[in-house]
Amino acid sequence: MHHNEALLDFTAVIKPSIYLVDVDRPETWSRYKKGMCDRCMASCCTMPLEVRLSDLVRLELVDPFEAEHEDVKQIAKRLTKMGVVERFNNKYELFTVARRASGDCRFLDAQTRRCTVYDKRPMTCRSHPE
Ligand code: SF4
Repeated sequence: MHHNEALLDFTAVIKPSIYLVDVDRPETWSRYKKGMCDRCMASCCTMPLEVRLSDLVRLELVDPFEAEHEDVKQIAKRLTKMGVVERFNNKYELFTVARRASGDCRFLDAQTRRCTVYDKRPMTCRSHPE
C-alpha cells in the first residue's frame, strides 16, 4: 500500500517537466542556460523520426532535382533499399527514418549524445520544445 503511494507521488513529480512544455506558449519554455545541453541525454532522439521530402533534401539524402522531378514513391523506395528509411506514408508523404539497432536516431552521435546534423536537422526536431 505504502509502496504504491510512493510510486504515484514519483509519477506526479516527474510528469510535469516532460509534458507541460508547449511549443506555442513561450511561458512554458526554459531559458537556455550554459551547460543545459550537457545534461540532455537525447532521449527524444530515440523516438521514430518522421520527415518530409524537403528535410531529406536539406540533409543531402535526396538531390533537389530528384525531389522536383522524381515520383516521391520512387524516392521512398530507393531510400528504403538504402536502409535510410523504414516506412513511407504515401497519404501524408512522410518518411520514417530508420533508426540504429540501439533505437537511436541514425544522426545521433552515440558517444556525445549530440545531433551530428544539427544545422540541417529535420523540421520536427526544430519545433521540438526541448
Ligand atoms: S536529426 Fe538530430 S535532433 Fe533530430 S532526432 Fe536525429 S539526432 Fe535528434
